[in-house]
Amino acid sequence: MVRAPSHPALADGAHPFPHDHLLGIAALKPWEIAFLLDEAEQWVDLNRAGAAKHDGRLAGLTQINAFFENSTRTLLSFEIAGKRLGADVVNLGVSGSSVKKGETLLDTATTLNAMRPDVIVIRHAASGAVQLISEKVDCPVLNAGDGRHEHPTQALLDALTIRRRKGRIAGLKVAICGDILHSRVARSNFLLLAGQGAEVRAVAPPTLLPESVEALGVTAFTDMDEGLDGADVVMMLRLQTERMAGAYVPSTREYFHFHGLTEARLARAAPDVLVMHPGPMNRGVEIDGAIADDIARSAVTEQVEMGVAVRMACLDVLTRRRRGIAGWA
Ligand code: ASP
Repeated sequence: MVRAPSHPALADGAHPFPHDHLLGIAALKPWEIAFLLDEAEQWVDLNRAGAAKHDGRLAGLTQINAFFENSTRTLLSFEIAGKRLGADVVNLGVSGSSVKKGETLLDTATTLNAMRPDVIVIRHAASGAVQLISEKVDCPVLNAGDGRHEHPTQALLDALTIRRRKGRIAGLKVAICGDILHSRVARSNFLLLAGQGAEVRAVAPPTLLPESVEALGVTAFTDMDEGLDGADVVMMLRLQTERMAGAYVPSTREYFHFHGLTEARLARAAPDVLVMHPGPMNRGVEIDGAIADDIARSAVTEQVEMGVAVRMACLDVLTRRRRGIAGWA
């Protein structure tokens, strides 16, 4: 039987999340991930009860959300998460930033730092940009998606959704399907789910499957029916055309025919399959809209809900040292 990783006994004075920043899943141990998921659980119930907004643990702290690439779910949920914890949240969007005026990334980082924020959340189109910024500022940095590299809070919210719906992650067959080549969501999920003991599959047409994908601990499939066979969880990805130079698929119609999630294809998966999508969805391209809307099988809206809880947990944990919380010095 595959077991979920458990935390080793902590040495005196150590705490369960010894990181200054949240830059990617790759830097985290399986039990550190399990710790963040456990922390997020409490916020799910409080958010549902409408009580979380009374928690002022981040009161007096300034949170900057600097998003140099478009976002709906991630930006809004980081803003709501910060506000529910009592932080003063300010948003910088790409259209309003000096990046458009030619400012370098390092100058932008120095500028943000000069305002003495207590935590910065960054999304950037370049892989590695968030790490670079984290090296130039004096506060915790959370990666809200950098290029094709990582999107750690998305993987955490996906894991929380799976864990709540299925009661476990270890031993589940998870098929991640679609434009894997351009997807930071796929990369972070491969690392997280494989590390938690799931049997992870990367399912994509050959043009959208990175050559080295199996090094991330997953099995590659180019045939959608084979990839879905017996899957407990099916996660669909969007064709990320904004990151494509040239054509990777003949047409979206043909793509849907061979790689879209249809009712017939989903019948290959386990009878109690859970369908997921990080959004934004393109109905009729990678997923049949009726499947996405079927709340018995689809967790798409729940993923958004879990996003707020996970981001509250991450903001809380990463600012503990700064807030002088006992045991986190
Ligand atoms: N919202 C996700 C991301 O930021 C997935 C996507 O855009 O397709 O990577």
